[in-house]
Amino acid sequence: MVSTDQSVALITGAGSGIGRTTAIEFADRGTSVVIADLDVEGGEETVATIEDDGGDAIFVEADVTDLESAQAMVDTAVEEYGRLDCAFNNAGIGGEQVPVDEYPAESWQRVIDVNLAGVFNCMKAEISRMREQESGGAIVNNSSVLGKVGFETSSAYAAAKHGVLGLTKSAALENGETGVRINSVCPGFIETPLLEENMTEEERDQIAGMHAMNRLGTPEEVANAVVWLCSDEASFVTGEAFGVEGGYLSR
Ligand code: NAD
Repeated sequence: MVSTDQSVALITGAGSGIGRTTAIEFADRGTSVVIADLDVEGGEETVATIEDDGGDAIFVEADVTDLESAQAMVDTAVEEYGRLDCAFNNAGIGGEQVPVDEYPAESWQRVIDVNLAGVFNCMKAEISRMREQESGGAIVNNSSVLGKVGFETSSAYAAAKHGVLGLTKSAALENGETGVRINSVCPGFIETPLLEENMTEEERDQIAGMHAMNRLGTPEEVANAVVWLCSDEASFVTGEAFGVEGGYLSR
């Protein structure tokens, strides 16, 4: 496993939901974790939870839509720990739930900026750093099942998440021989604040029923896949769009 007591993982959007849970999973395995988020309170809460459990974490305030902020986040991780082994580019927003012809252009652009350009900004800084290390590194980008299929009223989100897969595959090809592996995870619908803010109880049950397993996923189920993709057990896995989706796309 990459996750030893010397390894360092950077996680964006780790002040909530899937990012927070993944940070805790890494820390439980002895990895030092850099918690990056726009939300200072949420990020500090994640650090406190990890420290209470005896783990090691620091918080960095970062906005993934800003290239300089993404670079500063990676620089802080390296200044603090001297290396960067794993990065989970997870920060994201849901966007509005309206058809294309009604979608406000500004909100559409915001979803692309956070969910797609944000991943590009982070990867630019992370790949450069990891290539300097003899041990290389592993990057996982958070896409979605909506990176593989469309969803009515979620055009911006689906477009951004499809883009994340193209970005991941291209970067994986570029880095095939550099020792930096780059994959995506494609979660189904997962019980997090992002989902709860965007759906009524009735819609939630309906969405749960779209998964073969007839339920929503948990953040832990995504976190386990991310930790595995970052580990040496996945040493021949790169460019993958790894589903964690309870059979959502099996129909
Ligand atoms: P969440 O809302 O619980 O967490 C998202 C975090 O990202 C928040 O802490 C937020 O402050 C942070 N963030 C937002 N914009 C940011 C920015 N510009 N810079 C830095 N941080 C920023 O959401 P979640 O459900 O845990 O989602 C995490 C990721 O998982 C997202 O990329 C989302 O698209 C993806 N995803 C979620 C689901 C789901 O059903 N919840 C399914 C598939 C994929």
